[in-house]
Amino acid sequence: MTDLPPLSILIAAPRGFCAGVDRAITIVERAIEKYGPPVYVRHEIVHNKYVVDSLKAKGAVFVEELDMVPDGVPVVFSAHGVPKAVPAKAEQRGLSYLDATCPLVSKVHRQAERQVQAGRHILFIGHKGHPEVIGTFGQVPEGSMTLIETNEDAEAFEAEDPYNLAFLTQTTLSVDDTAAMVTTLRRRFPSIIAPKGEDICYATSNRQAAVKAIAPRCDLMLVIGAPNSSNSLRLAEVAERTGTPARLIQRADDIDLAWLDTVRTLGITAGASAPEVLVREVVERLASRFAVTEEQVETARETIAFKMPRGLEAA
Ligand code: SF4
Repeated sequence: MTDLPPLSILIAAPRGFCAGVDRAITIVERAIEKYGPPVYVRHEIVHNKYVVDSLKAKGAVFVEELDMVPDGVPVVFSAHGVPKAVPAKAEQRGLSYLDATCPLVSKVHRQAERQVQAGRHILFIGHKGHPEVIGTFGQVPEGSMTLIETNEDAEAFEAEDPYNLAFLTQTTLSVDDTAAMVTTLRRRFPSIIAPKGEDICYATSNRQAAVKAIAPRCDLMLVIGAPNSSNSLRLAEVAERTGTPARLIQRADDIDLAWLDTVRTLGITAGASAPEVLVREVVERLASRFAVTEEQVETARETIAFKMPRGLEAA
């Protein structure tokens, strides 16, 4: 018998690490094994403090700009992608670099290049200042891409040549908000060229769908992820739009027990850059205060894995 109050926990699946994050972290780990520490990483390899701190402990050094990387040491570019000028500058300096850009972000980069080569102006749906957006803008000449952040932007955009437009999107957006912006763009510019396939990646869509499936059954959703993680922020929004309040937390320590005063059913998910160990930490912390019952609700099964760059394949 226990006197602890009951708490039913629904855990969304899929959640947590995606194939691009897994690959990026493995690239840093294998680079440290191959070259020895330190290995420099430009920007947080993925937006998660736990991951960054674990890699620091193994010998990774995180910097924001290439200028901060000393000569003669390898540098890894983060999963979010970098403007073309960054590898070009690394080559100029004779630095050996490893590109951990997610292949699904690289796919958007190549589409951007192709649209500009075809003479089209690109409307890029994304969030200003996010490193993925900076990286994608840096694939094409200045002025050939316009950022669309909101439906108001999509309504207000004035095209010089309305018959020569294409749109692309950031990979980690809200599926629903993006659909609304795309509808506006298609209505205003019926000949606008759409990306080949969906730019919002499988991991983002699957995690949002999993939250939609459980949030209506929950009194509160906890989203484990960093405040600068685009896909984690979107998961919290998705929950709130179903009418269920959501809290973004980085770790179990961030939980305020007062949030759970009236909660009988709690939903948990994790952004694509949050490791499973943090989910277990949260459940275990709750189990010390509540009589927890745990149910995983799976809405999709993911089997995608990406190849390592040449030279870093498993031995
Ligand atoms: Fe790649 Fe999507 Fe993961 Fe980003 S969230 S690293 S685009 S799979």
